[in-house]
Amino acid sequence: MKKVSILGSTGSIGTQSLEVCEKHGFEITALAAHSSIDTLENQARKFKPKYVGIYNENKYSELKKRLADTNIKILCGMDGLCKIASLEENDIVLNSVVGMVGLLPTLVAINSGKDVALANKETLVAGGKLVMSLANKKNVNIYPVDSEHSAIFQCLQGNKREQLNKIILTASGGPFYGYNYEQLKNVTKADALCHPNWDMGNKITIDSATLMNKGLEFIEAKWLFDLKPEQIEIIVHRQSVIHSAVEYKDFAVIAQLGVPDMKIPIQYALLYPDRVECPTKQLSLTDYGTLTFAKPDYETFKCLSTAIEAISRGGAFPCLINSANEEAVKAFLNDEIEFIQIGEIVSSVLEKFEYSNISGYDDVIKADRIAREFVKNTIS
Ligand code: MN
Repeated sequence: MKKVSILGSTGSIGTQSLEVCEKHGFEITALAAHSSIDTLENQARKFKPKYVGIYNENKYSELKKRLADTNIKILCGMDGLCKIASLEENDIVLNSVVGMVGLLPTLVAINSGKDVALANKETLVAGGKLVMSLANKKNVNIYPVDSEHSAIFQCLQGNKREQLNKIILTASGGPFYGYNYEQLKNVTKADALCHPNWDMGNKITIDSATLMNKGLEFIEAKWLFDLKPEQIEIIVHRQSVIHSAVEYKDFAVIAQLGVPDMKIPIQYALLYPDRVECPTKQLSLTDYGTLTFAKPDYETFKCLSTAIEAISRGGAFPCLINSANEEAVKAFLNDEIEFIQIGEIVSSVLEKFEYSNISGYDDVIKADRIAREFVKNTIS
């Protein structure tokens, strides 16, 4: 039986991953979460991992106390995440933490020769070059968990990679599809947190509303599949049934479809290349009747155009806009800024900073720090 460690086990992807692991009888080696100790304690009692990690160090002693009657070793902080990522007994590490925090554990898992099921898109946005070159060097597989990237990965099976023309990345359009810039000025936090198709954590739900999520996925796809930016087309597909598609040299287009349920891509990443029954619903195309497609509005949704410009410029720009976005979303969720300001802040990064190179992990950390300082100074 496969041995799996899950980083970010209490989030939306983490809990669905545990459902998939339970269905297939996988052994859970370790679980880690940011700070939700109630859920983490329950998960630990149910799945009996060897290790449990808590990122927020203030929660460490409480968690240790609660699990004192078990044999589970309790770890904390970034060291804890990295220890879990490097465990010898892991067959695969599923990384579903939110944000830049996921980068170092991903690098550690790859360095330890462990395959990674990657749901943490910021990892590839901020450190795509480092992650992919280390994975190549260590001969480690990175299985995408993000539904669009899983779709592309599935569409690439059995075909020649060099005969690929382009990929077609689908976007739901989020809750504000069809809005103009004026209308975006009046949206509330409750509006932004209400996604039409997917039930997700707060950060990614806001990213879906600004379309930053699609921008991050554009960059993620570039690294995962070694593409040029001009080989990636984004289309708005409101129903989230086609999870993405690829076009080959003969203009044949192959798409992957399914109900919008993350358990399908999670299961494919954990069981690759096997396909067995998934704990979800079957797709009924006649229930949908119509599938629609449209071009995204790059002018209104500034985050999307900014992300594409950032990866086209290269260097530290993707990392800078990602960290600026993390800070801006945090400020929006804390009611410090309006929704419309997220796009304004993120796009201003392209004007404020000069090109700088990323040659190692330290460069990523430096870019992350200056982008966050820039946003904090802009807001205050
Ligand atoms: Mn996605």
